Amino acid sequence: MCRHLAWLGRPRSLASLVLDPPSALVVQSYAPRRQAHGTVNADGWGVGWWAADRPEPARWRSATPLWGSASFASVAPAVASSCVLAAVRSATMGMPIEESAAAPFTDGRWLLSHNGRVDRTVLPASPGAESVCDSAQLAALVFHRGVDSLGDVVREVGAADPAARLNLLAADGTRLLATTWGDTLSVLSTDAGTVLASEPYDDDARWVDVPDRHLVSVTPDGVCLEDLQ
Ligand code: GLN
Repeated sequence: MCRHLAWLGRPRSLASLVLDPPSALVVQSYAPRRQAHGTVNADGWGVGWWAADRPEPARWRSATPLWGSASFASVAPAVASSCVLAAVRSATMGMPIEESAAAPFTDGRWLLSHNGRVDRTVLPASPGAESVCDSAQLAALVFHRGVDSLGDVVREVGAADPAARLNLLAADGTRLLATTWGDTLSVLSTDAGTVLASEPYDDDARWVDVPDRHLVSVTPDGVCLEDLQ
């Protein structure tokens, strides 16, 4: 399934997060190292970030492979942000391949990405989904319930669809929230800030794996883990 990543900390360029590291998201789009479901993430990508003095996030999404975007490769070194969320997509069978199905989704305040799959028939109808794609429907439900209820929503949806994989990643410009439910997530904290990523983008020994079925919360004060069982 997809790979996603978020940053909270000192401003850094989109390229330093998404393109430059040896196993950056762009490399994970064709050669992920820890992906158990799917092989390549070539069905689209998205990057969202906060710019100074603008409360709402900016987004750039596409339904084409990240490795083919010369325009993004040109702009990414020139854009820096203290809060970034990015994803590359491997569409679940039957889901549309379109820009509006690529994460991050937004309600104008939060950015949200889903790494996994869910049976859409178990999801209560929620207004404002950007696509019929399962991840967009799930994002609409999370926005409707409130992102602070992320852990509760994942527990409830996981109970309704025991085969669901529900790794979610959200950012609002000042903090990050993430769940592990069926897929991998790693965290790297340094003096400059914190990265959450489906898999490490380099071999830095400080990456720590988050155990399954946990809620992770990142603020400028640090990283908190909560058991979701
Ligand atoms: N189910 C979602 C989609 O089809 C996410 C897939 C994924 O995690 N690869 O886009």
